[in-house]
Amino acid sequence: MGESGFVTPKIDPALHQARKPDWIKVRLPSHPVFFSTKTLISDLKLHTVCESAQCPNRWECWSSGTATFMIAGDRCTRACGFCAVDTAKPFPLEEDEPQRVADAAVRMKLRHVVVTSVARDDLPDGAAGHFARTIGAIRAVLPDAVIETLTPDFRGREESLRTVLEARPEVFNHNVETVERLTPQVRSRAKYRLSLQVLCRAKELAAELGIAAVTKSGIMLGLGETEMEIFQTMDDLREAGVEVLTMGQYLRPSPQHLPVVEYVPPETFALYGDIARKKGFRHVSSGPLVRSSYHAGDFNPRALPQSSG
Ligand code: SF4
Repeated sequence: MGESGFVTPKIDPALHQARKPDWIKVRLPSHPVFFSTKTLISDLKLHTVCESAQCPNRWECWSSGTATFMIAGDRCTRACGFCAVDTAKPFPLEEDEPQRVADAAVRMKLRHVVVTSVARDDLPDGAAGHFARTIGAIRAVLPDAVIETLTPDFRGREESLRTVLEARPEVFNHNVETVERLTPQVRSRAKYRLSLQVLCRAKELAAELGIAAVTKSGIMLGLGETEMEIFQTMDDLREAGVEVLTMGQYLRPSPQHLPVVEYVPPETFALYGDIARKKGFRHVSSGPLVRSSYHAGDFNPRALPQSSG
């Protein structure tokens, strides 16, 4: 029984499969915009999470002129079991990177810009100031764009959260990635409860600062979580005030990463999406190929009625 008081339906286990099914298909590049986006990103010496995380949708997103910028380098101080980003000692921050991201956003004519980063536990502020400078640079050249930040947990540091929120992103996204029980295996050094606190505090800070930032989170399915654990995670996120949820299939980037325990069928994703909506999320993306930023522009926080969260 969830917080909205309905009984969750049983899902036929026969719908779940262990082998890679037909619905996981990688789209190959065909549109010329894909190639011009690739050239632009390379010219400006930027990193995208699309490439670093080997996202299966990058052909589709880039072909439609959308990309998620990964700032603060492409070397992460953590080593999550699902993630294809390199773990290594990071390079110093590049002072001109915020401006280069803004230049790319303008040249790509983006209306919804997603900015994310590796975990920079080597920096006192976790690169929060760099996030804020990047938001500011984008805002200066694209005042009407929706800016979404997908941040690390900043080790729960309140000042870092405040720094990011004071830059006024429209969407504050932080992924819990998986259910509580699996978090120690899936996420390096991250804690499920800390992530919930980060999301909850972000919402509170936004209210204190008078900012209408929407909070968002996401989970991957297929890592061995149970249905009840998925529903519990939805409830935990709602309790933390999260309004937007993404759910997608975990895909193993290499044999060195965590194995896929099951491939969840599209109809089950659709059912989970309906359940999430009934639990009160204001926007839900749920499907095998859904990623945190996939079709992020479909969701316009300015079109949402105001809510108390
Ligand atoms: S914190 Fe984990 S998920 Fe994020 S970039 Fe680093 S290794 Fe990948």
